[in-house]
Amino acid sequence: MAGERVDVLRLGYRLGRDPRITTHLALVGRALGANRFLLAGDEDPKMFENLDSVASRFGGGMECEHVNAPMGWLRRFVEEDAGDGSPGVAVHLTMYGEPFREAIPRIRRDRPMVIVVGGAKVPGDVFKYCQYNIAVGNQPHSEVAALALFLDAWYGDSGSVRTFDDARLIIEPSANGKRVRDLDQEEE
Ligand code: SAM
Repeated sequence: MAGERVDVLRLGYRLGRDPRITTHLALVGRALGANRFLLAGDEDPKMFENLDSVASRFGGGMECEHVNAPMGWLRRFVEEDAGDGSPGVAVHLTMYGEPFREAIPRIRRDRPMVIVVGGAKVPGDVFKYCQYNIAVGNQPHSEVAALALFLDAWYGDSGSVRTFDDARLIIEPSANGKRVRDLDQEEE
């Protein structure tokens, strides 16, 4: 999949309450086209290890990082440096935003993008820093669903669904059951 880097920034992570849904968020990001997963709030090296473990079997390792000061990180990303010395594009997924299918055609694709998703409470500054506040329907639901639908619409026909060259386990689509190639066994 070609294109500029896509990061996912998850705000307000709480150890104890959020690991499962946040792991799912990272896995959806990995599977549907994001390149990097950034976690703000509590640190959780164990969750990053679990994500690495999935990537070691199914390929497609995603860079994972903890962000200590997310509002400063976001301000810098949109105003100064998205990683290459120039500003990037920040998209905030929120039920209060504008419809995603209407907004996507207006978002520039020639700069790195960060997709920001919230936790229990989203700081007001996020609405100010992000150039786009985007809703996947104006009802409260889940950051996982919002990210999946956004990435699918973002990549559209060019395909949000990724395959990974470094996979050791490859799932072969089947209408009848589980078909998985294990490259380690094939090479023995
Ligand atoms: N009060 C929060 C808000 O501002 O949307 C709801 C918290 S919700 C449990 C966690 C996150 O899921 C939100 O911060 C947002 O990123 C995402 N989310 C929930 N519903 C959404 C929707 N309809 N459209 C886009 N994102 C949504």
